[in-house]
Order: sequence, then C-alpha cells, then structure tokens
Amino acid sequence: MSAAKQSRPKGTQDLVPPESERRRAVEAAARSVAGRFGFREIITPTFEHADVFVKSSGETSDVVLKEMYRFKDRADRDLVLRPEGTPGVVRAVLENNLALPARLCYVGPFFRYGRPQKGRLREFGQLGVEALGEATGWTDAELVTFGVEFFAELGITDCRVLLTSIGCRECRPGYRSQLVDYLAGRKDQLCPDCLVRLERNPMRVFDCKVETCRVAVADAPKPRGRLCPACAEHFAVVRQALDARGLVYEIDDRLVRGLDYYSRTTFEYLSARLGAQDSLGGGGRYDYLFEEFGGPATPAAGLAIGLERTMLAMPGTPEPARRRLAFVVWFSAAELDHAVKLADRLRAGGIPCRIDFDALGVEKKFKHQVKAADAQGAGCCVIVGPDELARGVYSVKDLGSGEQTEVPANIIIEHLRSVL
Ligand code: AMP
Repeated sequence: MSAAKQSRPKGTQDLVPPESERRRAVEAAARSVAGRFGFREIITPTFEHADVFVKSSGETSDVVLKEMYRFKDRADRDLVLRPEGTPGVVRAVLENNLALPARLCYVGPFFRYGRPQKGRLREFGQLGVEALGEATGWTDAELVTFGVEFFAELGITDCRVLLTSIGCRECRPGYRSQLVDYLAGRKDQLCPDCLVRLERNPMRVFDCKVETCRVAVADAPKPRGRLCPACAEHFAVVRQALDARGLVYEIDDRLVRGLDYYSRTTFEYLSARLGAQDSLGGGGRYDYLFEEFGGPATPAAGLAIGLERTMLAMPGTPEPARRRLAFVVWFSAAELDHAVKLADRLRAGGIPCRIDFDALGVEKKFKHQVKAADAQGAGCCVIVGPDELARGVYSVKDLGSGEQTEVPANIIIEHLRSVL
C-alpha cells in the first residue's frame, strides 16, 4: 500500500530554487534600501493576541472582520496569525520602551484568509517601514520616495503612485456626516456589505469593487474637499516635497485604504503588470495608533509592500545557464582524499563547490561525476587526476563551452573566482 501524497494548504506556495533565491534577493534589496533611509530591522512574533489587531486595524475593516486566522491555543488564549505589520510593531515599541523617534522596518510572512488568486495568497511576504515619532509631511513624502526607490532597485520603473489625504479627528466627523447623508439617498444602489459599511465606516464604501457601489460613490463628497486648515497645510507640504523631488504621483480621492487607523496622508503603488490585484503596496499616516495602544500621543507614518506582487511586477531576468558552483571531480578512490581537501580549500576561498561521493559506487566514475555536475547546472569541473597531481595542476572544464584548461594548483582559487 503506498502512502497518500500530501499537498500544501490552499493559498500557500512552495518556493523552490531558483524562485526561492529570487525571493531572498528581493528581501535583501528591501533591507538594503530600508537601511539607506535609516530604518533598522525589528523582528516581532508571527502571532499576537487577537486584541492587537482587533483594536487597531479596526472593527470595521475587512482584514479584521473576515480575513484573520484567529484561533484559541491550548490554554484558551485568543490568538491571531498576524495579517499585517504595523500593530505588532507599535505593540513591541511600547512593550520594549523603545526611545522615540525611531525608524523601524520588517520583512516577513503575513496571513490573511482571503480568496486566493493571482497576487493574493493566504500566506504572503511583506516589507514594511515605520517612521515613529515623525510628524511632518516631509516624512510622508520621504516614505513615498522610499517605495519608489525600492521598486527602482528591482527594475520596476513603471509603477503609479496614488496619493490623497483623508483628514484627521478634527475634520473627519463633519465629512463623515456629509458622506452618510449623501449615501443615505442612494441606499438602493449599495451592496449588502456597503450598507453595513454605511453604518460603521462609510469611507470604506470607496473601496468597494461592486459596480453599483462604484457608481453610487462616483460623485460623493471626498475627504480632501473637507480638510481642516492643519490637514490642508500638511498635505500641501507632502505635495511640495514630492514635487521638489520630481516624483510623479496622481491624486486619487477614492484612496481610503483598507485599514481603520490611517489619518491624513494615504498613498498606494499600482502596477499594470499585476492584473486584478494591482496594488503593490501602500501606506499612510497613523497619528492616533499609539494612543489606541495606551501609549503616548505619537505621530507616525509607514508603508507596506507585498513581496509576491513585487516579484510579479519585476522584469524577468533570464536565469543564468550555469550556476556559480564548481564540482571537484576525481579519477579514482586514490584521489578522493585530495579532492575533499581541495573542496574545503575552495569553500574557504569563497568558491561554492560539491563532490559527487556517490560515484564511488559506480564503474565509470569520471563520466558519472561530469554528468552529475552538468545536471546540477555547475559552472565547471575541477579535475583531480593522477596526472594532474603529479604535475601540480588541476584541469578546469568549463561546462558551458566544454573547453578544458590546466591551472597551476596554487592559483586555482583566483582562477575560479574569475571564471565562475
Ligand atoms: P495592506 O496591508 O492591505 O495595505 O497590503 C499591503 C500590500 O501587501 C498589498 O499592496 C499587497 O502587495 C500585499 N498583500 C496584501 N494582502 C495580500 C495577500 N493576501 N496576498 C499577497 N499579497 C498581499
């Protein structure tokens, strides 16, 4: 009886080489660009107490209402696999009494129980940066610039930047009642979800993809039209700072973003290469979040970028035909000892290399090893034969061109560095 094959859970993915290596390269770029802007990495747990997200992301947001992986552990604790990064960062900053202002970044897995499709997974990677304790529009503009620079680093130069301001505690209540009045007259056009949103968080109706809802909000009053003088001034600074850099953006008044905690500036990056899920990432200001966690009033802004979607939007880089890998090939068991020592020496010199030990068990040892090296996509074979050893050289066979050259043993590392 054969055992049944197992499959991965819906909405997850296996990243196998070379895709796993591409993914790590994207993460390395994330850390490097974040470092350039002065962000230091924070590593928080992948699960948190449910309250961390229920309190912050909002009782009304889809992420909280529908998409959380929420479970009880064996001691009946109410836990959540983190659906996003910011609330955990704020929790950790307060719990660890980190000095503010602080610039923090994170890269890691996040979980949302959505309907999987291209660019939407149940476990996905995010890069996030948070500027905590920074109050001005200059910071918001620098965060927008950070995302554009990160994408540019990966060859994504065609993303669109959308930007708006959704106001603050001062101006939002007035706007909210204006919007509710407007939508109340169009209830027959709203989907059941939006009727609930109308009660709880009417701005979320702008997010709805249902056509009748889109029509209903098309001419609705927008938050930017009702900004208080302080919010209007803040937004003017953001625009001025972006204009001064020559960064191209579009004002989009429907951009309210899916999380409850944003105030003032919100922004989003879009890519036409992504299809229906066209948001590469986004962020905004969240000046009230620290208070919601029982902390001191702390202005803050941040953004998060999806790593899978970033990879989908990247221009395809052709996989190199050969890997940076050498196979140390030996003639007979008599040279194996020398081959192992050479391999250790090459590795110490930074040359990735392998030996096909299983050739010991076959008759045509040399042929078996070269075939194995070729199958692994190695760049070259370093041949350790009795003749080579007697003359103090190694033969190096380039597996791309098939060419073979003799290299003096004492310069083998330098030689391999230059050819691999
Ligand atoms: P959000 O935290 O919803 O603002 O999402 C920020 C970014 O994370 C999005 O623009 C996507 O790039 C990415 N993202 C969010 N949800 C998912 C998901 N379910 N699957 C893959 N990427 C996602």
